Amino acid sequence: MHINDKSNYKTYLPKEDRYEKTLYNRCGKSGILLPAISLGLWHNFGKYDQMANAEAILRTAFDHGITHFDLANNYGPPYGSAEENFGMLFQQNFKSYRNELFIATKAGYDMWPGPYGNHGSRKYLISSIEDSLQRMNLDYVDLFYHHRPDPNTPLEETAIALYDIVRQGKALYVGISRYSSDETTAMASLLKELNVPFIIHQSRYSLFDRAIENDLLSTLTENNLGCIAFSPLAQGMLTDKYIDRIPENSRAAKSKTYLDITAVNEKLSTIKKLNEIAKKRGQKLHQMAISWLLYQKAITSVLVGVSSSNQLIENLKATQNIDFSSEEIQQIDELTTMFI
Ligand code: NDP
Repeated sequence: MHINDKSNYKTYLPKEDRYEKTLYNRCGKSGILLPAISLGLWHNFGKYDQMANAEAILRTAFDHGITHFDLANNYGPPYGSAEENFGMLFQQNFKSYRNELFIATKAGYDMWPGPYGNHGSRKYLISSIEDSLQRMNLDYVDLFYHHRPDPNTPLEETAIALYDIVRQGKALYVGISRYSSDETTAMASLLKELNVPFIIHQSRYSLFDRAIENDLLSTLTENNLGCIAFSPLAQGMLTDKYIDRIPENSRAAKSKTYLDITAVNEKLSTIKKLNEIAKKRGQKLHQMAISWLLYQKAITSVLVGVSSSNQLIENLKATQNIDFSSEEIQQIDELTTMFI
């Protein structure tokens, strides 16, 4: 029999050497190791994005030992579509590697209409994880986050919802995101009492946003928690892409994103100066920005977003040089301590 299959579809077989060169860091004092660079699916995995590109990014990630994929109920657009697409691509590519993957999702932002589709109530969190598992066609996630603090729901209610989610086997570990230092201390104490495996805080951290250095980082260390840094490239500003122009199809050029041209222009002179420091280190700016985060002791993993496999490969090179001389740190501090 001769089969003339013109689909050009190739079954995915991950690279056998995928774990050989990858750097893993322990998450707080837990049993979990996370790759130094993890992949976030906030952008580029929604309904209107190219699935072949999304699939190539996921395959490239896993081929390079990136075991941790980060989602949320409302990633898309529209809400839920990143989880649906991930679920489909997972079935086609990674189903037999489930035990090698550490998959996270979250709830805490606007998800469905009415009073129960947002914030931190037990009603919202327990309904949302159930929906996320269905969209991704998974039995459980490895990590479930409360996506942001909710000042109007008692912290105890959110904590007990997280406890139940773990006890029901829907998540193995829990985390929180965007909580302040005080809120983190309070949540850590509640979850400790309940014996919930609370292992990580997801925080915005980059050369352009160093606010967590004020007190959150030390709180995380005191509580034996890991820290995963989101938007490490300040959504693409910490690259050389905007130095000469705003490229078509870049995040700043697109409408309905959280990065606009004004924000880029405000930072342009600092971007250029940081780019010169990176060049002297033999790195690209995006690599130096990631290396600098990995140089910080409290950081477990740097959570990048990419619009292509090439960007991911470029970013992974950051792990080859995560040492900084005191002169380099001083030069970087002169340009960025204003963002603490
Ligand atoms: P980044 O700061 O890494 O920005 C990603 C964007 O930068 C890419 O989409 C791409 O934009 C550009 N970029 C990345 N690498 C390169 C490169 N090598 N060269 C040129 N441009 C590059 O992270 P995100 O803001 O995307 O956040 C990462 C993840 O963090 C999210 O996917 C999500 O999982 C998580 N997150 C969590 C939040 C929370 O509240 N907990 C909030 C925000 C994010 P372009 O389209 O221009 O190519």
